[in-house]
Amino acid sequence: MKLLLLWDIDGTLIHCRGCGKRAMEQAFQQIYGVEDAFRGIGMAGGLDLHFLEAAFSKHGLEVAGPAKLPDFFKLYYSELEREADTEDNILLQGVVSILERTEREPTWYNALGTGNLEQGARIKLDVHDLNRFFPVGGFCVEAVDRAVMLQQGVENASAHYGTPFAPEHVIVIGDTDRDIAAARAIGARVVAVATGGCTYESLEALQPDLLLRDLAQPQLLYDFLRQIV
Ligand SMILES: [Mg+2]
Repeated sequence: MKLLLLWDIDGTLIHCRGCGKRAMEQAFQQIYGVEDAFRGIGMAGGLDLHFLEAAFSKHGLEVAGPAKLPDFFKLYYSELEREADTEDNILLQGVVSILERTEREPTWYNALGTGNLEQGARIKLDVHDLNRFFPVGGFCVEAVDRAVMLQQGVENASAHYGTPFAPEHVIVIGDTDRDIAAARAIGARVVAVATGGCTYESLEALQPDLLLRDLAQPQLLYDFLRQIV
């Protein structure tokens, strides 16, 4: 049984306490001259380009904005490298041990399923040397929705690993209601972890296939994966 594990990043593998938002704010301020451009824009579980669109819309930059996007992204990535490499960027408990374990299992495959732009995701993960576990993934490539991003992750992983993955053998692991909804939309199973943007109780109400308080007790996850047929 080949299982594809699609991992969310923020709130699931790491906490960088708003490093992406801070980097976007700094780049936005320098390129577009607007301070605190992302204030009031909820970012957990969303896609980077949606946040940017929301900021353009909020500040009336629909026309002027996109033309400067290459400059914005260049600055965003350089700000993110600085913002992500601080003690605010925390590796969550149990993560490395689980990734080492799932990587060793011949029929379990790791990939990313994240609303980050790929370069931003790689910058955040590099601080903890986690990129080695994720040769492939689904990322925010255009302003599509989270389910499309996950589906792209499945297709990218199938191509990379040279094997198809049936929807019921795809397990999305994430920390928000948006991860659960997107997983359901592509017919995947979903493991919710209450280490990020949503409380245990609010995730429980959405009935994920497995709900964990954190990743520090990996046996529950392994048992869950082993019973999938
Ligand atoms: Mg998350």
